[in-house]
Amino acid sequence: IATKHLLPENNINVVVRVRPLCNKEIKSGDAMAVQFPGDGQIYCDVVTSSGDKKPKVFSYNVVFEPNATQEDILQYSGIKNLIEMAVEGFNCTAFCYGQTGSGKTHTLTGPPRLFEKMDPYSEDHGLVFRSFVYLFKVLQEHENCNFVLKASFLEIYNEKVIDLLNPGTARKPLAVRWSKKTRGFFVENLFTVECEELDDLLAVLEEGMRNRSIGTHNMNEYSSRSHSILTITIISEQAMENGVFISKQGKINFVDLAGSEMTKKTQSEGKTLEEANNINKSLMVLGYCIASLSDGKRKGGHIPYRDSKLTKLLADSLAGNGITLMIACVSPARSNANETLNTLRYAARAKKI
Ligand code: ADP
Ligand code: MG
Repeated sequence: IATKHLLPENNINVVVRVRPLCNKEIKSGDAMAVQFPGDGQIYCDVVTSSGDKKPKVFSYNVVFEPNATQEDILQYSGIKNLIEMAVEGFNCTAFCYGQTGSGKTHTLTGPPRLFEKMDPYSEDHGLVFRSFVYLFKVLQEHENCNFVLKASFLEIYNEKVIDLLNPGTARKPLAVRWSKKTRGFFVENLFTVECEELDDLLAVLEEGMRNRSIGTHNMNEYSSRSHSILTITIISEQAMENGVFISKQGKINFVDLAGSEMTKKTQSEGKTLEEANNINKSLMVLGYCIASLSDGKRKGGHIPYRDSKLTKLLADSLAGNGITLMIACVSPARSNANETLNTLRYAARAKKI
């Protein structure tokens, strides 16, 4: 693991995770297009038309090399900081960005077979499972506090919001509305589950993952076109000595984004233009929103949160006083170098500007 500094300087922490070459890539003789000089840096070959390669260098908070474990992501990505902030009443978001097959779902939830037999000690468990365990550890350290946890799990497919805990709504997508009272966007009639213990949170994760694939012939194909958002809201009440209660509400969103490659493949693979435009737009708008976040000062310029459902629903953590963690997932293979470069550029923009 090439580590530079773990705490975010601003409100956004950008890390990169490079997955190992997969068997198919190894068999076909695909070479590595990335190198790890250390210090939060990554080199990626730029393959030019004449076939020669010049490496381009990028720099982030942390770069996770292919041998990084799921536990390494919990320990060194900065997610623990987000969880602690969420308990303190901030709105936080962790999201995985990258092309289909780059390891977004693996990083967040681990391989799907996990949900068939939940071995609590499996090395494969993803960041969400590990974050839940860590969350309960943090809650236990707050002795004179009462906590209520609520979970919801939704998916945005072609700008339609589908409740993953109440899949009957798939036929009738939910509306996103603006609340004058909270001055925020919310999903009308979204199913919310109160969770008392770790098992309750895990059941939500499991149920949502199962519903995500219902009625889809090709899970990978489907998930490459949809964004999923798992939200844990943490409400705390602390009794002060004078009998007054202090109440706080924070939350953490775990977001598995649609594949970042979607637009360019549109024509060649016959995907509908509308679908591709929607995905492209939400990822683009997300990029703008994050860029303005990473500015630190939030220059007060117009941020187009309202331009996509995804950014509407994340607005209170992107625009508010929470922190955001971006995990850019990339393939190390030469055959994917162009998409890897696109992801590294997107992530670098989020970090700088
Ligand atoms: P995405 O969600 O970005 O489309 P996946 O998470 O489904 O990608 O990963 C694609 C494939 O690569 C899966 O078979 C997954 O198990 C494997 N994979 C991804 N990241 C890793 C990793 N860090 N270690 C081992 N296998 C991985
Ligand atoms: Mg996926």
